[in-house]
Amino acid sequence: VPSSPTVDVAGLAAAVGPEAVVSDPVIRAAYEVDWTRRFHGRAAAIVRPRTVDGVAATLAWCNERGVAVVPQGGNTGLVAGGVPVGAAEGAIVLSLRHLDAVGPVDELAAQVSVGPGLELDRLSALAGVHGFEFGVDLGARATATIGGMVATNAGGIRVLRYGAMRAQVLGTEAALADGSVVRHMAGLAKDNTGYDLTGLLVGSEGTLGVVTAARLRLVPRLPDRLVVLAGIPTVGEAVEVVAELRHRVDGLDAVEAVLGDGLALMHDQLGLAPPFADAGGVLVLVEWAGRGEPPSGLAAVLERYPSAAATDPGGRARLWRYREGMAEAIAMVGVPHKLDVTLPAAELAGFVASVPAVVTAAVPAARVHLFGHLADGNVHVNVTGADVDDERVDDAVLHLVAEHGGSISAEHGVGRAKAKWLGLSRTASEIAAFRAIKRALDPAGILNPGVILT
Ligand SMILES: Cc1cc2nc3c(=O)[nH]c(=O)nc-3n(C[C@H](O)[C@H](O)[C@H](O)COP(=O)(O)OP(=O)(O)OC[C@H]3O[C@@H](n4cnc5c(N)ncnc54)[C@H](O)[C@@H]3O)c2cc1C
Repeated sequence: VPSSPTVDVAGLAAAVGPEAVVSDPVIRAAYEVDWTRRFHGRAAAIVRPRTVDGVAATLAWCNERGVAVVPQGGNTGLVAGGVPVGAAEGAIVLSLRHLDAVGPVDELAAQVSVGPGLELDRLSALAGVHGFEFGVDLGARATATIGGMVATNAGGIRVLRYGAMRAQVLGTEAALADGSVVRHMAGLAKDNTGYDLTGLLVGSEGTLGVVTAARLRLVPRLPDRLVVLAGIPTVGEAVEVVAELRHRVDGLDAVEAVLGDGLALMHDQLGLAPPFADAGGVLVLVEWAGRGEPPSGLAAVLERYPSAAATDPGGRARLWRYREGMAEAIAMVGVPHKLDVTLPAAELAGFVASVPAVVTAAVPAARVHLFGHLADGNVHVNVTGADVDDERVDDAVLHLVAEHGGSISAEHGVGRAKAKWLGLSRTASEIAAFRAIKRALDPAGILNPGVILT
């Protein structure tokens, strides 16, 4: 890990072009704090290249001098991976947002090549014009970039149907720490020609290379959609409903949940009235997409519970608000500790039942808010009322996850926020292999120090 040497910002500007380098503290400020406001640090400068050559030149310059680099896209990441904190305090933040070119949509192959700075909703809109969709969707769609989503292997609301980013990325171009560029973007369905560098870059959180382009798979746009929001009495029953839906219903796009105090929070913070009479228990949102009428099995399963349904875009958005408003409502209560975890289906109810007591035992004033991607066993444990630097809550929740056989990071990545707990989900030999890969590709350790590996 570099020791954050004093950076010769004028020398850097001379090497990569002064128009790409920002050192003004007022402009820097937005790049130095994360979305939750929990993590903030200081960057020596922000570099905003417009070309892959600009990215490569920045990395080569920093590599020669042992200067740490923090790649950043839309800065919606929730694990302090894209901000200059901890071991990366005083680093260069390399913003990829200006690399947002979009290649022509290849309708024959259902693929498109894009720059890393392209925001998700711009990609979705472009795909829609050509009769396609992008297989990954998530709440931060207006700001999250494709580069950040590749780097974190983002999941979101449609993993159930299409998989996470890994399943959508058919090739990448990336600048490595020494400034060399690797490019493999043909997007061939079959291509067994050696190591899968793209597979390695997906989910590497900016520690192995900087993604400068991605070749993406598109999926057919489905014209008909139905959203049902149902109140299911317990988490255990909700998990059984998911299993039944998987068996009986083709074309499920999403199965999401809001638990605990979610409904009260929506009311108090966002002014949302309950969606239907007798709303309580676990609020489960199911979305089906296809052509024509939804399968009858969907209604047969959900009509046992109080519910509301919509097929029109406005009605669907109104129901989704109960799920997607959660992050915003929690941020209004306080700066949260965000612990994004996955549990095996059989352990979900036990984990959810235990987590509030475990949290308040660690920090009595803390308050727990729970929601997530139910079909994936992915719970977002949000905790407010604990100091931003107080890691007792994180420690307690992540140990509880490990006791239940879960993963300490479902989809947000490890970042810097969870690096010290990596051993709860990965063995010592796996971590040793991670370190060997890191040393091979980034021997000077300039790329995102402190992320994934402490
Ligand atoms: C309201 C809200 C809802 C969210 N919902 C979801 C969800 O459902 N599913 C989910 O998975 N995530 C979700 N997230 C988290 C976040 O949106 C994702 O992690 C997203 O992939 C981050 O993209 P970004 O462009 O903002 O990346 P950033 O935050 O800028 O960076 C994230 C990581 O990627 C690295 N990075 C960024 N760009 C590059 C690049 N070009 N090359 C190499 N490394 C790079 C950074 O160094 C950092 O480690 C949500 C966040 C918010 C605020």
